[in-house]
Amino acid sequence: MKKWKCTVCGYIHEGDEPPDKCPVCGADKSKFEEYVPEDKPENGDTEPEPKAETEKDAEKSAGLAWKNTGRQNVSHIYTVATDLMVKNHLHPISVHIPNGVLPVAVIFTVLAMVFHSVYLDKAAFYNLIFVLLSMPVVIYAGILEWKKKFGGNMTPLFFTKMICGAAVFFLTLVLVLWRVIDPDVAVSDSSARIPFLFFHALLLAAAAIAGHLGGKLVFDRE
Ligand code: FE
Repeated sequence: MKKWKCTVCGYIHEGDEPPDKCPVCGADKSKFEEYVPEDKPENGDTEPEPKAETEKDAEKSAGLAWKNTGRQNVSHIYTVATDLMVKNHLHPISVHIPNGVLPVAVIFTVLAMVFHSVYLDKAAFYNLIFVLLSMPVVIYAGILEWKKKFGGNMTPLFFTKMICGAAVFFLTLVLVLWRVIDPDVAVSDSSARIPFLFFHALLLAAAAIAGHLGGKLVFDRE
């Protein structure tokens, strides 16, 4: 049976035809190409030569880059640095930090509402500030990974993931500002508590969907 590889996310499909849509990232049929697993060279004669040439070329171009103007040097350093960030999984590392704190902030808010506790409310507020501050790093690392690992292809999965990431950022921003403007919103009996709680539910849902899609991308490709 033939094998087809999604050129966006790397998912391998087995069948006579590629699927209409990638079940992982949602890319359409045109993004699939026939996948032929690489055979290990049997006589070993043909492989090393082109590899040596490629390395030489890479060295030459790297050398040339450093000899060029200061501006080119900066862009070279940026490329090397961002390559390292993607290679060492900055996005999953950075995303797990606010994702661990976010549900705690939501639970503290709910408990603060139930028990009218200013202490739990303060804890929730500080946790949300932490989430807010970490989100720019998460979003930046995510965009880098999408561009470098997935060729910047906009499929339904990446689109949804980006909307959810942006939603987490803006909902957190709104909730932090809300507490600044109305510090007693969670602990008072005002009717604003309902939309305030609803925004927390949306925040949790957006983070969960983004996390679910990230997991799909990492674990469901084969
Ligand atoms: Fe795919």
